[in-house]
Amino acid sequence: MASEKQSKAIPLSHHLSEVAKARKPSPLKGLSKYFKQEGVLSLAGGLPSPAYFPLSGLSVDALVSDSFALAPTERSSSFSWLWKLLGSSSFKKERTTAISIPKYSATPDDINLAAALQYGAAVAQPQLQNFLRDFVMQVYQPAFEDFTVLIDTGNTDGWCRAFGTLCNPGQGVLMEEWTYPSALASMMPAGVDPVSVPMDGEGMKSDALEKLLSEWDEEARQMSRPHVMYIVPVGQNPCGTTMGATRKKQIYEICVKYDIIIVEDDPYYFMQLGTYEMKSQRSSVASPVSHRSGDEARFIASLEPSFLKYDYQGRVIRLDTFSKTIAPGARLGFFTCNPVFAERFERQGETSTQSPCGFGQSIVTKILTTWKYEGYIRWLQGLRTEYQQRRDFFVDCLADEFHLQATPAVAGIWEGCTMYRAFSKPSVLNTNEKLLSQSRALFSFIPPNSGMFVWLKLNLEDHPSFTPDDEGTLETKLWARLAENGVIFAPGWFFTTDDLASSEPSAGHFRISYSNAEYGDLKKAVNIFGRVIREFFDEQV
Ligand code: PMP
Repeated sequence: MASEKQSKAIPLSHHLSEVAKARKPSPLKGLSKYFKQEGVLSLAGGLPSPAYFPLSGLSVDALVSDSFALAPTERSSSFSWLWKLLGSSSFKKERTTAISIPKYSATPDDINLAAALQYGAAVAQPQLQNFLRDFVMQVYQPAFEDFTVLIDTGNTDGWCRAFGTLCNPGQGVLMEEWTYPSALASMMPAGVDPVSVPMDGEGMKSDALEKLLSEWDEEARQMSRPHVMYIVPVGQNPCGTTMGATRKKQIYEICVKYDIIIVEDDPYYFMQLGTYEMKSQRSSVASPVSHRSGDEARFIASLEPSFLKYDYQGRVIRLDTFSKTIAPGARLGFFTCNPVFAERFERQGETSTQSPCGFGQSIVTKILTTWKYEGYIRWLQGLRTEYQQRRDFFVDCLADEFHLQATPAVAGIWEGCTMYRAFSKPSVLNTNEKLLSQSRALFSFIPPNSGMFVWLKLNLEDHPSFTPDDEGTLETKLWARLAENGVIFAPGWFFTTDDLASSEPSAGHFRISYSNAEYGDLKKAVNIFGRVIREFFDEQV
């Protein structure tokens, strides 16, 4: 176990792939340290003069950090969807702060376009680097001393660099049985295959992981035991699960035992929304999350910790992104990991993206340094509340459209959790519970406690045209029927690792996002879904 005193990362370079070992510094980039020497006359690089950058400064109207309320408001907790529609962000007058970035700054410490738009090393601008390091220390509190923070262009880039640096063709990566499709799409063409680990209501199961690794049979699998794990522990995409501290510690210790590197892809970390409570119960339930201004430490403490907090060996590569907290188009994110891996990621960055776009970096940096750490945390708190309200509103819409019955799940990924089974609303002639229990459940789900998605499991066994092991056909037919009626969900097959270890059929699911549509459209989509799925379950297709 971790000692009280922080230690440095253990040697882990045996995890590097052949490609990663072969990378050399890009010749000119390798000389960049000399460029920083005072008075040096550098005629080496093909740098355009900043005089030819066609702008003399940038002015931006940033929102103020307390733009969004800390707690759901009285009116919103009554959840009149009409009010939500009127109150949605596009109708609000935004409060802003004017910020400007000059081409040439008075002091070298100030962010300026002459430097930000110039070629440079594949690292962050110094002001952003300082901000991020401080942020990582305060929020994630890594358990090893020599962690390194390195900029990238978001978690898609982060994962692409991570598996390329760690995996050789023919190797496998441990993944949750349902996972983020782009993560699969980037590694599989490189000959790196998913190795599926069963999930439950907290995400990847630690006992299943231990079993899989302890019983690994190289010959039967035709693959060496995986040494890399890809995991989305918060707002799991697609299932919406959140992994608690105990499970994380168990998984970490298993990874120590079997010498596995954990890649923690965590875009939804600050969207930890708490448990959904039915509309009628909501106001009486105290939220575990701080809703007081100036209470950053309490807010951070209310969040499930990152794997970094338990990482006394430096075997976690954490991927953070600004896509969900600032904007996806900023194309900005960062690794936190041991210095050996960070150095290899930097080498890879030098020959691919180089440093992320200078316009985006300087604007995001200026916003963050204007808000300061406290302001950014305040912004994140406001976002958390916004997504909580969206989640609550969306599940309320389902509760209005269907009759939801809370039932303990006996199998599948929700085993042991209370899930909601959705029935057609009882008609006037069918109001008593007995008749209801004889009627069909159309789908089941667990309201997510983090992230942006509701994961629905369709109850296809009760469909008149159901054929065992052919859930895919019905899933696709219902998906197409919904699309024809103007509603598009993500079909479940997108997210399958398609491995025999799965505890559920690999079809018969939808992932629904409540993150972006206006409230009125969310309501409309649920009404259409209700009509279409009821008709669908009433007919042979
Ligand atoms: N990882 C996961 C799990 C995601 O859900 C997403 C966004 N859908 C990404 C990565 C992509 O992140 P980025 O925009 O930072 O590339």
